[in-house]
Amino acid sequence: MVKCINCPKHINKKNPGLQCSKCGKWLHASCASISIDQLTALSATEAVDWKCKACVGSQKPKRLSYIIPDPDEDDGKTSEAEGSITAASGRTMDNKMLQLVLQQLRTEIRNIIREELQQALKFYSDKIDEYSVKINNYETNVKTLEKQCIDLKNNLKILILNVVY
Ligand SMILES: [Zn+2]
Ligand SMILES: [Zn+2]
Repeated sequence: MVKCINCPKHINKKNPGLQCSKCGKWLHASCASISIDQLTALSATEAVDWKCKACVGSQKPKRLSYIIPDPDEDDGKTSEAEGSITAASGRTMDNKMLQLVLQQLRTEIRNIIREELQQALKFYSDKIDEYSVKINNYETNVKTLEKQCIDLKNNLKILILNVVY
């Protein structure tokens, strides 16, 4: 069981918290003014190291732009143990990852479309081949029928001639 340095309660799953990367002390997320969503996001990002306020105060951050402003700072009830999150590096990484994922998606979609188009084209060119074979067959059939028709006409002429004379 871990105790919070800001309040007497324990840190557990019902009342989750996080550990300072410098002094190793634990703090409730609520005591550090971190939302559960932020806490989950932090725990998923290894690049982010969180420090409690005491540790942040004792050591000036290398890059001030990397400190996220505290949303509760304006209403004047800032707690003692509240810390700053150096999460900007994690955020940049998330953006990069997002860009990468988007790029991969785009490439994948492009490949899928290309594949589908090729398949459609192949389907239609196969169909055209099929039809041209059929048309050739029909032409041959028509020619055969024409020939038979001429033969029949000739036979008929002969018959008529035979009957009349
Ligand atoms: Zn607490
Ligand atoms: Zn600390």
